[in-house]
Amino acid sequence: MCPLWKPMPDLEFRSADARFGVHIPGATVRRLLHLCRSSWRKETGGILVGVYSAALDCARVSAASGSPVDSVRGPSWFQRGTRGLQRWLDRRWASRGAHYLGEWHFHPYAAPVPSDTDLQQLEIIASTADYRCPEPILLIVGGDPSGKWLVSAHVVPKSRDAVPLQRLKEPVEPEPR
Ligand SMILES: [Zn+2]
Repeated sequence: MCPLWKPMPDLEFRSADARFGVHIPGATVRRLLHLCRSSWRKETGGILVGVYSAALDCARVSAASGSPVDSVRGPSWFQRGTRGLQRWLDRRWASRGAHYLGEWHFHPYAAPVPSDTDLQQLEIIASTADYRCPEPILLIVGGDPSGKWLVSAHVVPKSRDAVPLQRLKEPVEPEPR
């Protein structure tokens, strides 16, 4: 292995009261950054699938979709389309039992702070029976996907205020002896 190649660490988020957690494997983080880079200076996004932990306190993301072809987007706005998503979801459900967990999108070269519109969209999802997801996750990638990027995570429980999650620090690797 090339000694300069460093694996992307997993991202782990937790709410202050530890009721909500989100885990994103390094491979999915890499894919998200790739999708953001390919979008140049426009927003992009998609959906997140995975499973909940046995204690239901952590959403374990296993895959992120790209943006459906009928999405519409600009430098500071994005509306996710739906074309092809059901098939994409069905495949993940059939192969790994992964189900819908929430949404992700990209704020190019800006802070990953959710706008009022972002939160409203998640509130609609939380209360739409078809999604079967009363506590959807909102993941936002911000900054420069080739350099200094940032990721924020919120949970938007049905009929309640959005809960910001804090990113947990990476475990410090022991110094080689
Ligand atoms: Zn946004």
